[in-house]
Amino acid sequence: MVNNITRTLVQPLVGRCVTVNSKNFPDGLVVTFGFTGNLTEEIEKDFLDLFSQSLSDPIKSVLLDFSGLQRLNSIGVRSLLSLIQLIPEHVPVEYHNCVAEFIEQVNLLPFFLERGEMKSLRIEELCPNSHASFKRNLLIGTDLIPSQDVMAQVRNIPKKHCSQCGSELEQSEVASIFYAFLACIKKK
Ligand SMILES: [Zn+2]
Repeated sequence: MVNNITRTLVQPLVGRCVTVNSKNFPDGLVVTFGFTGNLTEEIEKDFLDLFSQSLSDPIKSVLLDFSGLQRLNSIGVRSLLSLIQLIPEHVPVEYHNCVAEFIEQVNLLPFFLERGEMKSLRIEELCPNSHASFKRNLLIGTDLIPSQDVMAQVRNIPKKHCSQCGSELEQSEVASIFYAFLACIKKK
């Protein structure tokens, strides 16, 4: 069954930095926005218009997936905020596979965590010896338990080792800054 959101949004979005998928559940649609490449200009107005018109479908939740995001600048952030603000307030918003570019903004703008729930991170780790780089997912609530003591949480993240030389991998970001958002996540 093709629902309204899929019908109106997928076609006009081919080749742009946002893709939309929706899955039908008995209690409503789960709509996923996938970001790829550079989100550095306005999300097209016709896209936002189409999205708001499609909101007549009952929506269960909206998921934002950042796994493909490479660059995000202030214009992209503004677009992202416009998109989130279109989502009706009773609809839960989730952030998945959050990459460093997005996390930096989450740490700056309280709005993101006030409106949505961070579910998982996609971090990059480097081998200090062979300089190989590895991507890895961390689940909030499993690998990272939100708490006021951010550094205690960061120390508990299981270590990974380089597949080429066995050295312990390191994250290039400063942990106390990168993971600051953990102290702001509301406990359930
Ligand atoms: Zn290595």
